[in-house]
Amino acid sequence: MLVDSHCHLNFPELKNNLVDLQQYMGLNDVNYALTVATRPDNIQEVIELAEMYPNLFASVGIHPDEKLSDFILTHEFLLNFINHTKVVAIGETGLDYYWNKDQDLSWQHERFQIHIDVAKTANLPLVVHNRDAANDTYQMLKNAAVEDCGAVIHCFTENIDWARKFLDIGCYISLSGIVTFKSAHQLHEVAKYVPLERLLVETDSPYLAPVPHRGKTNQPAYVRHTAQFIADLRQVDLPQVANATTNNFFELFKRAKRLM
Ligand SMILES: [Zn+2]
Repeated sequence: MLVDSHCHLNFPELKNNLVDLQQYMGLNDVNYALTVATRPDNIQEVIELAEMYPNLFASVGIHPDEKLSDFILTHEFLLNFINHTKVVAIGETGLDYYWNKDQDLSWQHERFQIHIDVAKTANLPLVVHNRDAANDTYQMLKNAAVEDCGAVIHCFTENIDWARKFLDIGCYISLSGIVTFKSAHQLHEVAKYVPLERLLVETDSPYLAPVPHRGKTNQPAYVRHTAQFIADLRQVDLPQVANATTNNFFELFKRAKRLM
């Protein structure tokens, strides 16, 4: 059994094919997926998708790439969603300096802090995006003692030193299809380094399809390729990676209920 710990099923490429995607998940032993909101105007839709299928869960938050000049996030806005039974996490949140170089980024920090506060209030784990912002992401999570509510660094792309630091403050590390890319040497080392009991796998679909589907529309079933690649790197069987990452998912996302 496998779990796709991060995907965006509300994006049109996926939303219009949900029946097929579910069937393909089943064929590939991918039994659950966490679908992740990115904007204030898709949170409701993401929750509704999770309501439609017992094997889908929802995460609510606003992606740091969504600057949204007409929207200011408040604690109250996010707190509205935390009691829903299918909402199992807060995010996608975090910091992204790649698209925002040389700008005032205090709005990103304030928004990330609100997500952190709400996650701690709700006792729900954080789904954290970091791009070119490892140091500030780490400091903010550390200052918040994030291990209390839990967090995953999703689509991890940093080196072993950063992996160690995030592990040390209680975070899980989630690897996407990027790890299957030939040139991702640093990430291959990370995939061997992270203890199995702190590892998650994800697709981040519709983006970042793993080899052998690289460049195509990604989907939750393809998380199997990523898990297989990691198993090969670590010289263990696929079921070992599958079982560990599945158990980790339900350990971290405590509100997510196993069906079997
Ligand atoms: Zn994402």
